[in-house]
Amino acid sequence: MDLLLMTGSDIERRLKVAIALTVLFFVVEIIGSLISGSLSLLGDAGHMFRDIFALLITLSAINLAKKLPTKTKTFGYHRIEIFAALVNGIMLIGISGWIFQEAYIRLLTPHPINSRIMFTVALTGLLVNLYVALTLHGSQDINVRSAFIHVLTDTLSSLAVILASVLIFFTGEMIIDPLLGVGIAAFVLASAIMIIKDALHVLLEFTPKGISFDEIIRDIEEVDGVEDVHDVHLWSLCSNINLIDAHILTNELNLMKVEEIKREIKRRLEKYGIKHATLEFECEACKRNEKVEKMEH
Ligand SMILES: [Zn+2]
Ligand SMILES: [Zn+2]
Ligand SMILES: [Zn+2]
Repeated sequence: MDLLLMTGSDIERRLKVAIALTVLFFVVEIIGSLISGSLSLLGDAGHMFRDIFALLITLSAINLAKKLPTKTKTFGYHRIEIFAALVNGIMLIGISGWIFQEAYIRLLTPHPINSRIMFTVALTGLLVNLYVALTLHGSQDINVRSAFIHVLTDTLSSLAVILASVLIFFTGEMIIDPLLGVGIAAFVLASAIMIIKDALHVLLEFTPKGISFDEIIRDIEEVDGVEDVHDVHLWSLCSNINLIDAHILTNELNLMKVEEIKREIKRRLEKYGIKHATLEFECEACKRNEKVEKMEH
């Protein structure tokens, strides 16, 4: 399929298929871990939970972004995506803590494990992961693309469980399972911390990741007619929209020319994902002339 022709509803359909498969397999892994007694399968299920949530956030971000802003909600629902990610991160810390605790118990008194069931479930998981990755492949949407890369790396965790089940089958060393469980829980914990950090970054209105403040200022100041840029605020609304507000000092007195300057600045800002710019033009320097100004209350 031509990548550029992939429509929004096509992405949605693919995401829904991916979510349905992941939910289905999440349930299969929980049941499989109960029957086989494998903790690493349970850890993998915990990870699947993260994926379901991440895919749901991606899907709802696409849907909620379509909802128009209203007079009482002038930003619409873009931030819900960030809030949901924060909630997901906090829940994942709980899940990994639970697996760590289970692993501790099993390291002290090893549980018997049915390695055949463990193997079968993990192999199915690997196939589901590969299929989901294939489903998400080829999208232009930045979130869908990162979901694709993520699901692809997930195959590693399924492979590890498969390998562990084979080792347990041949050696009878049950301790391999909780050890791998600890590894997977550590991975879940690490991704939880990353998710929370990223969410806080947006919630606290920090400068969007991957964007250089100085570079943007330089880019604006290079526009003909711009004397100075100051009192800048740079933040993101959601993972797809960055915003800026800034004071622009110009010696240009012709309002039509000022309009041209503004248009050129906004054109330059597009490449930073800045889709909403509020520019305050002024002819004589105002009192606030630092690049970054304190906001007081
Ligand atoms: Zn995953
Ligand atoms: Zn958005
Ligand atoms: Zn000013």
